[in-house]
Amino acid sequence: MRRNEEGLSLLRSLIRIDTSNPPGNEEAAVQFIEAWLKKEGITSKIFSPAPRRGNLLARLKGKKAGEPIVLLGHIDVVPADETGWTEGPFSAAVKDGYLYGRGAVDMKSDVAAQILAFAALKREGITPERDIILLVTGDEEAGGEMGVGYMLEKVDELSDAAFVLSEGGSIIEEEGVLHAQVSIGEKKLCQFMIRAHGTGGHGSMPHRDNANDKVVRAANRIIGHNWPIRRNKIATRYLTGILKGKKFKGFTFSTLSNALRRKHFRSFVENNVVYNALLRNTVALTILKGGVKVNVIPPESEASFDARILPEEQHELFLAQVQKVAGKDVEVVPIDRGESIPSRYDTEFFRAIRRAVKSRKGNIPVLPFITTGATDLRYFRQIGITAYGFSPIALSHAEMLSMHSIDERISLEGFAEGLDATCDLVKDLAALSTTD
Ligand SMILES: [Zn+2]
Repeated sequence: MRRNEEGLSLLRSLIRIDTSNPPGNEEAAVQFIEAWLKKEGITSKIFSPAPRRGNLLARLKGKKAGEPIVLLGHIDVVPADETGWTEGPFSAAVKDGYLYGRGAVDMKSDVAAQILAFAALKREGITPERDIILLVTGDEEAGGEMGVGYMLEKVDELSDAAFVLSEGGSIIEEEGVLHAQVSIGEKKLCQFMIRAHGTGGHGSMPHRDNANDKVVRAANRIIGHNWPIRRNKIATRYLTGILKGKKFKGFTFSTLSNALRRKHFRSFVENNVVYNALLRNTVALTILKGGVKVNVIPPESEASFDARILPEEQHELFLAQVQKVAGKDVEVVPIDRGESIPSRYDTEFFRAIRRAVKSRKGNIPVLPFITTGATDLRYFRQIGITAYGFSPIALSHAEMLSMHSIDERISLEGFAEGLDATCDLVKDLAALSTTD
């Protein structure tokens, strides 16, 4: 079978196994992968943190022991409601040059490409310089504790990895510039809620101690606050890579610091949700809770916020700032936080990605990037392992936006090219003997 037919068949099988998380049910998917690898003569091991949950690890022995390279992919997906889909989310239907299905982008396509690239090494009789580990995990969409978190506890060697490759960046066009985003880090999670207490009462006799009023006013101050733009190194490198030479009203982009002095450019940045998130802490009001009956003033009220702060920011300082902005009527209560230590990008691994991109796409920019959301790679970066989020499968904007949404789909042409590019990249990684 030709590589693209084989990859497509593998991807369709993976999409048809419903791994919506919750509840996950990754076991069926990893068993399928185990059987697939077995036909190639590759043994793998399944690790189950709970009934019907599962992770899989397979290994190709290298010339030297230690410091393996890990190809990491999560097999769980976010749930999908059939409503609004052109084709059923688990049908893996092919239509007009696209494959539809939950996971087509995030990230069963990459898992299929990694499996194929891993098997290609074995088929071609390549002995890698060091062990190459294929790690297929569950639970990423719910925080990863039963997935990567669990595997790091169970398999000591993973903490010794030289490099981990997973999702987070892509080959994409922005402002007319086709480029590769290699995610070397992510924003830090800093979720919190505000809570107010007041005096209950009858809705017919309003008073000044209404918990809902306090939360609404404080929430309004928080969402109206203009969090300062901070020119961090990675965002500067990324935006300069795409925008250099681009003409804006009245000027040509040369450096980010110059451009940010212009009002017009600042509003351009602020209106692009990704650029905006790369340059400042962001706060989104996501849950409002207060009151049970229309004629009752509630004694308590709360609102929750999903905040993502830049890697160099500190949680405590940020939350103190939120409290200041929110005012004295509410209490700021932390919900969840995450650390983020970006990986270096002056490494052999980054250069290998650059080579793989160049060989397929020519001389396009290959730029470091910060993922706005969180991925499983944070587990590895936290323990000092170089970890990049990059998929060699090029995505259009429509495909990118279909992730987690209705009609998640991937173009057959893009996927086929991505399979070849993933094989090139994995072969290149297998030949590296340096550890950084
Ligand atoms: Zn994902």
